[in-house]
Amino acid sequence: MWTNWAKNQSADTPISRPASIAELQQAVARPESLRIVGAGHSFTPIVSGADRILDLSDLSLPAVQQGDGDRIWVNANARLKELSPALADQGFAFRNLGDINTQSLAGAVSTATHGTGRELPCLAAEITAARMVSANGDIVTTDDIPLEMAQVTLGMLGILTEAQISVVPKYNLRRQVRLAPLEESLEHMHQNWTANRNFEFFYIPFTGKAVELRHTLSDDPEGKAPRDLDMIAVKVLKLARNTGRFSGGLRSALLKLLTLAQSDEDYVGESWRVLCSDRHIRFKEMEYHLPPDVAGDVLQEVITRLHRDHKDIYFPIEVRQTAGDTACLSPFQGGPRISIAIHTDAEEDHSRYFNALEPLFVEAGGRPHWGKMHSLSYNDLSSLYPDFDRFCALREQLDPDDKFLTPSLARLFRP
Ligand SMILES: Cc1cc2nc3c(=O)[nH]c(=O)nc-3n(C[C@H](O)[C@H](O)[C@H](O)COP(=O)(O)OP(=O)(O)OC[C@H]3O[C@@H](n4cnc5c(N)ncnc54)[C@H](O)[C@@H]3O)c2cc1C
Repeated sequence: MWTNWAKNQSADTPISRPASIAELQQAVARPESLRIVGAGHSFTPIVSGADRILDLSDLSLPAVQQGDGDRIWVNANARLKELSPALADQGFAFRNLGDINTQSLAGAVSTATHGTGRELPCLAAEITAARMVSANGDIVTTDDIPLEMAQVTLGMLGILTEAQISVVPKYNLRRQVRLAPLEESLEHMHQNWTANRNFEFFYIPFTGKAVELRHTLSDDPEGKAPRDLDMIAVKVLKLARNTGRFSGGLRSALLKLLTLAQSDEDYVGESWRVLCSDRHIRFKEMEYHLPPDVAGDVLQEVITRLHRDHKDIYFPIEVRQTAGDTACLSPFQGGPRISIAIHTDAEEDHSRYFNALEPLFVEAGGRPHWGKMHSLSYNDLSSLYPDFDRFCALREQLDPDDKFLTPSLARLFRP
């Protein structure tokens, strides 16, 4: 039985692991429907629902091929955490990364995975060429289909095998973490995104405080990364929530202690080690990408409703910004977006919280993260993306028998 990371999606279908491109082509040419799994870190039903699952982690390809300037061919199914040191060996790095690096590159780009930074695009926008196996088993490249169609696909145009990515010379980052009053984070967020290469903040529910993270380029000597206390913090937040069911005062006292114990961090390290961390506590997540001019108001309303109606929530709200790009299905297509992410414990019911807040994101013109929970369908999505119908037409042309289209995906991509 396959389950995703959050254990909210599962599939009772056989998983095969082709070891070569030829084996992959043979497997794909069979008539049964199939989906590819990367690291299974998406929260939505975009891996399950077909007759078969293919896992491409055994595909025998070099992680990183010899570079040609700042464009390098890589094994699209390698994990980001394998690619970063392999790129560093050649003197290169990803321009930006998200919170974790356990995803496969193909899985991450297929859902427009992003980090934070006003001038830094999502990972898919770094794809400059790609090779895929199409639904009939043939090889298709970005010479055959437009690049902007192939960057974000949810695996519906073909199976990515190799990708050429735009990289930068490897670099170190200075990471600074501090606690700030929420009003201050809200008031200065746009300045902070302008002033810092990477900026984001997490609002800690029921505290009025935000944890701000800044990353800037640095030539200073590397320091020792402090112990990752995020897991302990989330445990304390849960404990405070649980005690709050009996005593609101005790919850406030615990939250106050937590914010007092929050110590500032300041150290320098290799970019990918500094940007990414491990996430040990499982959660479910909804994230919407909003036009920057409305995001502050939406966030304020989200927090008002959280405080008023959702006393059981303890996971912080994460706020990031990503630069615009030109990929047809990228939520950042056409201009930068500010992303607001809400979370619940993986084992707890998310529906009351997510259903209550999603309309705020939708009314503000937000586009959902393709790998995170949302309730939109074709009509909503086609009005959010100018090239949506062009993408759907290409999908039908490349996959006329719907080999990659499950019922859940048909809800999104078929009128
Ligand atoms: C703890 C955690 C932290 C996260 N942090 C972030 C973050 O900071 N920023 C962010 O934007 N997102 C984040 N996410 C979401 C995550 O990055 C995306 O859901 C991503 O798609 C997961 O990659 P994966 O390798 O697990 O892919 P999967 O979830 O396994 O697959 C994703 C999609 O890609 C398709 N796919 C996989 N391989 C191929 C291939 N070779 N060819 C074609 N299609 C393929 C799959 O069929 C599926 O449709 C996080 C998720 C978790 C659980």
